[in-house]
Amino acid sequence: MSEKTPITVAKGDGIGPEIMDATLHILEAAGARLEIEEVEIGEQVYLRGNPAGIEPSAWESLRRTKVFLKAPITTPQGGGYKSLNVTARTMLGLFANVRPCVSYAPFIKTKHPVMDVVIVRENEEDTYTGIEHRQTNDVVQCLKLISRPGCEKIVRYAFEYAKFNGRKKVTCFSKDNIMKMTDGLFHKVFDEIAAEYPEIENEHWIVDIGAAKMADTPENFDVIVMPNLYGDILSDVAAQIAGSVGLAGSANIGAQGAMFEAIHGSAPRRAGQNLANPSGLLLGAILMLVHIGQADVADKVHNAWLRTVEDGVHTYDIFKEGVSKEKVGTREFAEAVVARLGQKPETLKAVSYNAAAEPFKIPVASPSKIEEKKAVGVDVFLDYRAGTPNELGDQLAALGTDALKLSVITNRGARVYPGGVSETFVVDHYRARFLAAEGAAIDHAAIIALLTSVTGGGLDVIKTENLYTFDGQPGFPNIGLK
Ligand code: NAD
Repeated sequence: MSEKTPITVAKGDGIGPEIMDATLHILEAAGARLEIEEVEIGEQVYLRGNPAGIEPSAWESLRRTKVFLKAPITTPQGGGYKSLNVTARTMLGLFANVRPCVSYAPFIKTKHPVMDVVIVRENEEDTYTGIEHRQTNDVVQCLKLISRPGCEKIVRYAFEYAKFNGRKKVTCFSKDNIMKMTDGLFHKVFDEIAAEYPEIENEHWIVDIGAAKMADTPENFDVIVMPNLYGDILSDVAAQIAGSVGLAGSANIGAQGAMFEAIHGSAPRRAGQNLANPSGLLLGAILMLVHIGQADVADKVHNAWLRTVEDGVHTYDIFKEGVSKEKVGTREFAEAVVARLGQKPETLKAVSYNAAAEPFKIPVASPSKIEEKKAVGVDVFLDYRAGTPNELGDQLAALGTDALKLSVITNRGARVYPGGVSETFVVDHYRARFLAAEGAAIDHAAIIALLTSVTGGGLDVIKTENLYTFDGQPGFPNIGLK
């Protein structure tokens, strides 16, 4: 137990150095067993011409320690700079973003005095892969990618997290009533994996009503797992309604490493004035202590912090006349926490982390079951503004081949041929579905022959999407026609 764990620390920009010094001071005073390697990240590194905001030598440290305690950085204005978080996420495979959102009433003002929610957000895929295109004059697209391994890793992580931390329920948010394939897969995998954890309650909400319920009665939620976009938005909502985004820490977890930080930014206007609240970074550091198996130190630091908050020793951002007792700066706040090490809160609930010798294993995806894939058609996307949908439909019907016949045309998903109505507002972006005869399979040559015919007819094909069945099940939603 006395062995020190190497970690990589970056003090970042703005208020970063002050809140990191405060955090490290508390960790050291609490007896955290850490061997710190400090690296430089952020604005100066960017401005020295490194578009990733981090030097190769810093990466070496990270690869070695696999644990990164990171203060916020300032991303310089202007283009060309890559988000350091995105780079770290990709390099370390950080697939899970974990954000506990807890209220501290009556000591910190909140409309939700009973709130202790952990948001587990998928961090690698969904609409965040940056695969976007302008396809026509009027239409741009963003690809939403959801993978089975991605769903398995994040959902299993949520259940393992719940099990390890004595949580009772895992809720899934998705929009699978609309995105039946992508969010449908997320929900399906959730149901499959939930069945392996009968001791943990599980439920699914469509994200809109789920989000409304979370914002209204957060006390009814425990752990919530969701795809990237919803998680990005709702983790900020959850942190804000708990009291303040300034008080939340987060963990980014992957098979190759983990990164811990505050969720706020570098607050440049507050920098260098001994004003900033170090709590977000400290709570991030507590998640790190649990991750590296130092639950004893995590308990000590967290309880001392709760006691400090409860004693009304507050930085300016949470100071409230009548509730707070003493307005302090960053350093004084840290000293107040140090002075309370070994104490527990009296009103707020004391924490007790799982002191298992080994924290739970980071889930890896199980090997995919390979299903038989058969091409049965193709969606041809067209840039078209020369005529009406009916004119386009008649033209495409005539350009179909023996192997692939026109089935239906949609414009932004709405069916416009056959049987379209003149009221439908259309843009210059059409999807024409061509299907093989029932039961027949097609090959690339058949698709190329179709495209040759369609483009030969003077139409502008902007992309195609092959239509497959997997073990006989369609890998595309039915759009209402054969
Ligand atoms: P911000 O989080 O830095 O500040 C928002 C507001 O909260 C400000 O009023 C600020 O004074 C206050 N605040 C934030 N943290 C505080 C703390 N610990 N104590 C007291 N008050 C605090 O957000 P912003 O102003 O939009 O961004 C500033 C810079 O931070 C930008 O360059 C942005 O790119 C960067 N940023 C970095 C990260 C990161 O490194 N993880 C995250 C978000 C923003």
